[in-house]
Amino acid sequence: MIKTVLFDMDGVLYDSMPVHVWAWSEVSEKYRLNYTPEDFYLLEGRTGDTTLDVLFQRTFQRNATEKEKKDIYQEKVCLFNQANTGRVMPGAKNVLERVKAYDLEALIVTGSGQHSLIDKLNQDFPGSFRREKMVTGFDVQYGKPDPEPYLMGLEKAGVQASEAVVIENAPLGVRSAVAAGIFTVAVNTGPLPDKVLWDEGAGLLFPSMIVLAQNFAGVLNR
Ligand code: MG
Repeated sequence: MIKTVLFDMDGVLYDSMPVHVWAWSEVSEKYRLNYTPEDFYLLEGRTGDTTLDVLFQRTFQRNATEKEKKDIYQEKVCLFNQANTGRVMPGAKNVLERVKAYDLEALIVTGSGQHSLIDKLNQDFPGSFRREKMVTGFDVQYGKPDPEPYLMGLEKAGVQASEAVVIENAPLGVRSAVAAGIFTVAVNTGPLPDKVLWDEGAGLLFPSMIVLAQNFAGVLNR
């Protein structure tokens, strides 16, 4: 029986991925890192530090230094905050209404280290999430795609993997959740083909949070 729904944040609850991609592209230009905008959808879910390691390995065949990570990620966060509209993903509120209607607990498991979005959650989804039960980029050592963040989410919720379901939009997020042994529902809210989400082990896939809300009972009764 499902007791808990673990939600990824960016691209699931907030329509924030285009702004993240823009901000990452800006700092990548500035520091002459090899990238394409699509890379940031494929890398989504990683912490800032490991995203930079991937880009530095590709460009300079070495990891980023601690100072580079701190400076560049800070710049990226700053750009993101300037441009972020804080737009809630269409359908996200409907999904959380379903979660409440079925008396389930909702938790956030995000790689994000963006205080601006994390602080907004209570405003946009009042009563849905408890701060002390959130897993963010500040809590983890490895982050997605490692199973660590979702295992931490299960622990904070006090449930077994079989009692939870994950809602994810990112391929590496799906990989992380599946590796934690949790049934994972993909919502493809970005530009990547469905196949990349299926290939990571998604158990179900919906084209939007709106359609997920409409089919929520089916997810619980699968
Ligand atoms: Mg996401």
